Amino acid sequence: MADKKFDPTNLVELQLVENAISARQSEIDVIKINKPLEEAKKRFDAAKEYFDEADSGYRETDDKRKKLEGEVELQSDKIKSNEGKLFSGTITSSKELENYQEENELLKASNIKYEDEILEIMEVLDELDAKVQKAKLAMDENKSEVSRVAGEMNEKLEVLTNVVAGLNKRSEEVQTLIPDDIKKTYNEVKNKKGGIAVSVLKNSFCSVCNMELPSIALEKIEDPDEIYKCPLCGRMSVVYRAEIDQIEKELES
Ligand SMILES: [Zn+2]
Repeated sequence: MADKKFDPTNLVELQLVENAISARQSEIDVIKINKPLEEAKKRFDAAKEYFDEADSGYRETDDKRKKLEGEVELQSDKIKSNEGKLFSGTITSSKELENYQEENELLKASNIKYEDEILEIMEVLDELDAKVQKAKLAMDENKSEVSRVAGEMNEKLEVLTNVVAGLNKRSEEVQTLIPDDIKKTYNEVKNKKGGIAVSVLKNSFCSVCNMELPSIALEKIEDPDEIYKCPLCGRMSVVYRAEIDQIEKELES
């Protein structure tokens, strides 16, 4: 099965590197399902909704105040213009004089009423403003919490993405050392056997199915550089060597 110049350790290495890639990939998938981030976003949305409500409540009330102030200004202008006419000496009819005086009294009374209303509205505005400020503070706090949690997640993802990139490179490199026919078998077995194509034979046990090989199978294992087939799980079996432990250690760190 194996080329004589081929070191089967490379095949074990490819399997171990690919295992590490899928483990890291699963970690990435788990990190992306970020419950605390989702919850922080929900809290921010709720705080924003509360703020928007408080803010539009303030604006609506302030618009009422502005409208009343505009009304007072218009009426004051009218009063002034009436007074101008009253004191201009151009009005000769006493009826006309009376009309202007009467109108000014009504306008002044109306302005007093509006000014009282404005004062009441301003008290309400103070309360609404305090509510808006508090809502803004809560919204800002939630916003920075979202940024903090998202930032932490992105940092972890960046680290893992770099690790995966390094592993992919290592996988490519080790694949250049494996003859095509062995790679072909590797991929076929991998697809059939849930992603694990290679096992290590150590102390008569298969590292993947954890079964002890029957003595009849063990007798056939004569060349440690040959690739065998586990008679129990059908995987490509490589006889154990110390370099495998070294590779596992490297991949752990
Ligand atoms: Zn096996």
